[in-house]
Amino acid sequence: MLGKLKTLLADKVSTVSADLESHSHDESYPLHRLPMAVVYAQSLLDIRQTLAWAREALAWAREAHIPVIPFGAGTSLEGHIVPQTPCISLDLSRMNRVLQVLPADFLVVVEPGVSREALNLALKGTGLFFPVDPGANASLGGMAATNASGTTTLRYGGMRPNVLALEVVLTNGEVLELGRRTRKTSAGYDLKDLFIGSEGTLGVITQLTLRLHPLPAYVHALRVFFASLETAAEAAYALLGSGLPLARLELLDELSLRAINRYLGHDYPQKPALFVEFHSSTKAALEGESRAALELVNAVGAIAVDTAITQEERSAQWEARHQLYWALVAQYPGHQFMITDTAVPISRMPELVRYAQGLLGQMNLGGSIIGHVGDGNFHSLVATNETRYPEAEAYAMRLVEKALELGGTSTGEHGVGLRKKKYLAPEHGVALGWMRQIKQLFDPENLLNPGKIL
Ligand SMILES: Cc1cc2nc3c(=O)[nH]c(=O)nc-3n(C[C@H](O)[C@H](O)[C@H](O)COP(=O)(O)OP(=O)(O)OC[C@H]3O[C@@H](n4cnc5c(N)ncnc54)[C@H](O)[C@@H]3O)c2cc1C
Repeated sequence: MLGKLKTLLADKVSTVSADLESHSHDESYPLHRLPMAVVYAQSLLDIRQTLAWAREALAWAREAHIPVIPFGAGTSLEGHIVPQTPCISLDLSRMNRVLQVLPADFLVVVEPGVSREALNLALKGTGLFFPVDPGANASLGGMAATNASGTTTLRYGGMRPNVLALEVVLTNGEVLELGRRTRKTSAGYDLKDLFIGSEGTLGVITQLTLRLHPLPAYVHALRVFFASLETAAEAAYALLGSGLPLARLELLDELSLRAINRYLGHDYPQKPALFVEFHSSTKAALEGESRAALELVNAVGAIAVDTAITQEERSAQWEARHQLYWALVAQYPGHQFMITDTAVPISRMPELVRYAQGLLGQMNLGGSIIGHVGDGNFHSLVATNETRYPEAEAYAMRLVEKALELGGTSTGEHGVGLRKKKYLAPEHGVALGWMRQIKQLFDPENLLNPGKIL
């Protein structure tokens, strides 16, 4: 069976064990399963040939159902790329060309394997940047497929508003052009947004047109500690309501600060902290806004504040936020982390964070809480191992139930994959049936990443 694929795609097909191993798992889901082969696609034609081969195999023998799983950088967290049955992993990382930079239109056209860091390097000198930053150096195709977002989503939005158009290949080989190079369109059903967040289950993204933003002229950051989570949340609301040009607003709980102090040898107050960044357009605006922000957090009850203006100062200040994951890895050797990403209406965030903290203690689970507080979205990073995995799962389940009760969602940014499938029925009710019909319409033979999302 694989012989025909090798004839078609020659050395783009690998069955080398190191390649199979690196495509058998993601960054967090506990299950590993090797694909039959990895196809390193270099063109649209390679993708169409792989899909045509899978359809042909099925036509020869019903039992030859060999699905295809699109693979970007493999940094997802919910089992998105983990094979369920013998399958082909379709690796898009070699489709990594920046095709067109269009500064006059604030646009760039890229292949799906371009990483977010590589894109911003390619934009150097244009005065523009692509703001969506999920932490990991993910591929732009994978980021669109998971509707990723990150710390700057508060100001610039996640993938949906920043992807203006997509080229997508369906399993029948048809190529769809979805969206336009315009900031807005009201023409017809929005299939572009349907494919964003579809996790490789409806089609393969082969090209993206992305929106760019001017690099901020003046950046100013604050790190503010509070005596309690309540006052930190109160300050976050005051900042959100102030009209100040917030770009990032992140919350770390006291458990996070304890882990960071141990890991980096600092003596920060082991108290809840807000990490705040403002993007201003003039020096005078920066100074005024900086003063206003300080007055505001002090009025709410900040117990310690430090400001950062230069790049070095800001990097040093945000080190704690960026190093948290590694601080926890060091604190819990031999453990993996289950990372939840519930989101709730902004006013319900403190209630859910308090619940999450209490539950970690009650269930005697190690970990900490870190939040994109400006988006009502936060992560519990739960240390787990083989024996404690069922308890970590039970924790995540209870947190999702609480988030849904508060009008929230089971996943604000990581997506569904395998782990969160069980939450979709309570979240979507009868709409889930319509999602199944959409899957059936685009992929009637269930060849693309089967068993994920639905
Ligand atoms: C330390 C860490 C921190 C993280 N923080 C965040 C965060 O803050 N926000 C956030 O959103 N995510 C976060 N993530 C998760 C992850 O980085 C994102 O989900 C990312 O978007 C995945 O991109 P990828 O290229 O690695 O995709 P992969 O893991 O390779 O694939 C993800 C899914 O997309 C599909 N896919 C990939 N490429 C294509 C394509 N071209 N066409 C169709 N389908 C495709 C795959 O089939 C799969 O279902 C984090 C991960 C780590 C390890």
